[in-house]
Amino acid sequence: MPSNNNAGAPVEQITEKRDLHTLTRGELQELLAAMGQPKFRAKQVEEWVWEKNAQSFDEMTNLPKALRDALGERLTLGGTTEVARQVSSDGSRKYLLRYPDGVSVECVGMPTRNRLAVCASTQAGCAMGCAFCATGAAGLARSLTAAEIYEQVMHVRDDFNARVTSVVLMGQGEPFMNYDATLAALRRLNSPEGAGIGARHLTVSTCGVIPQIMRFANESEQFTLAISLHSAVQKTRNMLMPGVRKYSLINLYNVMGEYVNKTGRRPTYEYALIGGVNDTESELQALCDFCEGTLAHVNLIQLNEVEGSKFRPSTEARAADFVRRLASVGVEATVRNSRGSDIDAACGQLKQRLR
Ligand code: SF4
Repeated sequence: MPSNNNAGAPVEQITEKRDLHTLTRGELQELLAAMGQPKFRAKQVEEWVWEKNAQSFDEMTNLPKALRDALGERLTLGGTTEVARQVSSDGSRKYLLRYPDGVSVECVGMPTRNRLAVCASTQAGCAMGCAFCATGAAGLARSLTAAEIYEQVMHVRDDFNARVTSVVLMGQGEPFMNYDATLAALRRLNSPEGAGIGARHLTVSTCGVIPQIMRFANESEQFTLAISLHSAVQKTRNMLMPGVRKYSLINLYNVMGEYVNKTGRRPTYEYALIGGVNDTESELQALCDFCEGTLAHVNLIQLNEVEGSKFRPSTEARAADFVRRLASVGVEATVRNSRGSDIDAACGQLKQRLR
């Protein structure tokens, strides 16, 4: 991983090499000025780093060779490698990327006719310990930097050679336990000088870290929010999602009301249907009560099976019951087609099994 130990030191006094991705625009300008370069060079370098996803200084062909060499003497660039990939029968591709410190994460590209959606990770592993999740079982290795989150999306873009139309931060990790890096990555993905993806097509999925939900509501961009709900019964949710036990459902309900009032945007509730656990009559009634009268969309996902897990998916008929009953109380719900489940790339299946 690029070291940030030198962050804040004048760039010319840096002894340990920093990764170019970690430099602010001001620091880059300062460095290039100290190297006697004209002002426009900073823009050229930034284009290579953020728009073109250059992986080496030698790719920066519109910079003089001497400058490329001089930058390489002072900074590092990238060092992330794809160490494995799997391709699903539905066209989805799952990648295992490894960072220079040896930590690896997975991300997934999901193409449809004119679109390319990416599911990216915000942490390597996860500390939340959701009972149905392969990532949670492995624990947290570390949080990712904004550049590392951004780079996953660009890696998928380059591999498909297609524009990314949407991103969900729903891979490994809890984005709101890595809030600042997540927001910085979203801003770069949204920026015309980055990936240029519309804010409404950038979605953060959280299991309900309440203090960060209102912080997110107060951000100026119109990013989209998804909540992993999975049960509207406190006891069941505590069992399925022990990492958010301290944030009760009633508090979640209240904060989501504030979120909607503040933003006017419709949040999504993710609900993985688990046979005999959260698909019973009382669970369905509780879900209807939780959502009725609120601005919400429910995404029902038939649980993706995880090797060694005691949980099994509900039946399709039960998923259809959920859709009908939610509709009867005025709540829109859809059964989401889970992409890439044959390569363990679907929700809750990402882990470092390729390593
Ligand atoms: S479902 Fe998400 S928050 Fe829960 S353990 Fe898995 S990665 Fe973490």
